[in-house]
Amino acid sequence: MTSALMPTYARQPIGFVRGEGVWLYDTEGRRYLDTTAGIAVCGLGHANPVIAEAIADQARTLVHTSNLYQVPLQEKLGEALRAVSGMDLCFFGNSGAEANEAAIKLARLFGHRKNIAEPAIIVMENSFHGRTLATLSATGNAKIQAGFGPLVQGFVRVPHDDIAAIEKAAAENPNIVAILVEPIQGESGVRMPKNGFRYLDDLRAICDRHDWLLMLDEIQTGNGRTGKYFAYQHSHSLPDVVTTAKGLGNGFPIGACLVRAKARDLFGPGMHGTTYGGTPLGSRVALTTIAELQKGPIANAARMGERISHAFRKNLGDLGVTVEGAGLMIGVVLPKPCTELIARAREDGVLLIVSAENRIRLLPPLIINEEEADLLVEKISALVRTFLSEGASA
Ligand SMILES: *Cc1c(COP(=O)(O)O)cnc(C)c1O
Repeated sequence: MTSALMPTYARQPIGFVRGEGVWLYDTEGRRYLDTTAGIAVCGLGHANPVIAEAIADQARTLVHTSNLYQVPLQEKLGEALRAVSGMDLCFFGNSGAEANEAAIKLARLFGHRKNIAEPAIIVMENSFHGRTLATLSATGNAKIQAGFGPLVQGFVRVPHDDIAAIEKAAAENPNIVAILVEPIQGESGVRMPKNGFRYLDDLRAICDRHDWLLMLDEIQTGNGRTGKYFAYQHSHSLPDVVTTAKGLGNGFPIGACLVRAKARDLFGPGMHGTTYGGTPLGSRVALTTIAELQKGPIANAARMGERISHAFRKNLGDLGVTVEGAGLMIGVVLPKPCTELIARAREDGVLLIVSAENRIRLLPPLIINEEEADLLVEKISALVRTFLSEGASA
């Protein structure tokens, strides 16, 4: 029987029917260690009982009322995010791309307020910001843009992690009003700036000097993934705009755009909106997720991240394998393309992502324990060692 689905994904020949913590169970009842967490989404693990109860209880109470009315749970969620972020105000949507759309609109408004008729946003090579037209235009990946022109205007692309390139763009283009950047690039395979999070302090200084907005895409790095609630909390700087989604609902779709300082008072009534953003149900789930993340999983992500990264360096360093990232956002970079490891790992009961052909991108649930972390390292190290030794003999 042919599938009724548009073939937008080259799906692996496997499907899951049940999950528990870091484990997924397929239709045959086979168990897999999930190092993907649904692509950095299920930080609290699959079928987390506290989240399940929040969903069920709220579904029995009130699911949706619209943003025509006050939504008390959305107000509470805004306060919770303000407390964990140091930001001031929130707008809620349903995905990462929507959160970034809000940020892009804010940057343009900010520009127009300064009488810049065609405001431009600096974006990076190898970045990923989503699949809507504006966010794919911001994305630094030709494959994602191919076939969808004309792209949305108003983006200036520079190499990632290159302060001089930004200064050069500033000198050449008086229309720049903002920088949109991932603290650690995710989709392109966990690319960490060479000075780590000090990069964000450098970007903050540039934005202050030029009166630009610093807009951080923390859709993947946020919600505890790097061992702090937001990745910028490893730096000494606050952004003007932060977007997040993925881990915010542990699998329930919700995204947020957070603002402060120069970006705080740009949107007024009627200037932005969405039917579903911040429903009572979504807000309740995200509130519960934030509370649960702070009870241990974020600290655990820092600890287990160290343990896993250290072990990979020790096990595979002699083979030219390097490790980058922070917390449980770990890139294991091989000296040759390794997409075939996805299938081999799956046969060995491990789900993993390979990005940019040679980068194993590990994003396990933040609740992974020592035993599971060690199993992950042991299995992947063995696969990588065999794989690289084959290359040597060929
Ligand atoms: C996943 C992701 C997005 C897009 O989020 P969606 O929910 O898929 O729209 C944007 N930016 C980054 C950094 C992401 O990882």
